[in-house]
Amino acid sequence: MTPTSLFYIIIAIIIIDFIVDKILDALNAKHYNDPIPEELTDVYDQAEYQKSQDYKTTNYKFGLITSTFSLIVTLAFLGLDGFEFVDTIARSYSDHNIIIALIFFGIIMLGSDLLNTPFSYYKTFVIEERFGFNKTTKATFILDKLKGLLMMAIIGGGLLALIIWFYEVTGTYFWLYAWALVALFSIFTNMFYARLIVPIFNKQTPLEAGELRDKISEYANSVGFNLNKIFVIDGSKRSTKANAYFSGFGSEKRVTLYDTLVNDLEDEEIVAVLAHEVGHYKKKHIIFNLIASLLLTGLTLFILSIFISNPLLSQALGVETPSFHVGLIAFGLLYSPISELTGFVMNHFSRKFEYQADDYAKNTYKSEPLVSSLKKLSKNSLSNLTPHPAYVWVHYSHPTLLERVRNLRRE
Ligand SMILES: [Zn+2]
Repeated sequence: MTPTSLFYIIIAIIIIDFIVDKILDALNAKHYNDPIPEELTDVYDQAEYQKSQDYKTTNYKFGLITSTFSLIVTLAFLGLDGFEFVDTIARSYSDHNIIIALIFFGIIMLGSDLLNTPFSYYKTFVIEERFGFNKTTKATFILDKLKGLLMMAIIGGGLLALIIWFYEVTGTYFWLYAWALVALFSIFTNMFYARLIVPIFNKQTPLEAGELRDKISEYANSVGFNLNKIFVIDGSKRSTKANAYFSGFGSEKRVTLYDTLVNDLEDEEIVAVLAHEVGHYKKKHIIFNLIASLLLTGLTLFILSIFISNPLLSQALGVETPSFHVGLIAFGLLYSPISELTGFVMNHFSRKFEYQADDYAKNTYKSEPLVSSLKKLSKNSLSNLTPHPAYVWVHYSHPTLLERVRNLRRE
């Protein structure tokens, strides 16, 4: 294999991935106007339905523009030996491999972030604004960006520096050490996410004593689930869209409700949503996902260790001095079809788990409040009621609203 043929394989992967993605989007868009299934006719009234149609079309067109732009930039960058250019800049500041890698990734990340910012600005302040979702102020938008970049620099930079150091000290065995590092890190962030990461972006307050809290406790006790940490987060600071999630485990286990969810749903509906989340715990989905992602990370790192020392990877991207950091980028591009494949498989499991969690809520609480909460959440996010099956198969981590309603109402 020559560097040139590897280069063309990379280009082919990028283009095929783009085409497949656009075909799925177009298939999905062709079904926007499908008749609404009978079970879902009460989700929207006429005006809201029209609004949801406009929202879908607007997002479809916007997605087409942004993905085409990013395809062109990526291809131009590869065609013009952009990686060699950035690598040369990084090497002019240091001859230490880890420092070079940090500068290299710093430039790439910052550059791609700068290119993406106008699009995310437009998405937030024009599209989401027009449809009444946006609550983000310009100050929050800028602060979020800065905090995100800073976190990326510290956490991403720290992990990268350690992994390269493992590689330099242990050679091919670096993948075992890197795996242990990533595993410890992901278990740690999983555990302390609510304490360490969330406060950087949001305010969390314990759910005040009262009827809702009593109803939640009553349900949790009835299924023998220890749930005393219930927090409300100020999601309304950024968007009107609502959500609820569990995080942490053991003594750090807590549930977080968006203030928008508390406002939009009735108490019974909130308890039903929590019953669904408790189902994920009781059916061991959380553990399954954590173990599966650790195994996948291990596999990826192992495959990386086989190829990373091959100078062909760097040469394929037109970089003269082979290095770990350029090899990593080439590997990432070549590996993307495999990670798409594992993404499918994980989505497949995820949809199965959603049914199981819904069944758990149905069996230990009630199904109708969950049905009505899912409908309200769909309505409030103007979601698509008639997605194309192929699109669902590839992209959806949850079954469609119709499938969930049918399952919840099945005797
Ligand atoms: Zn779920």
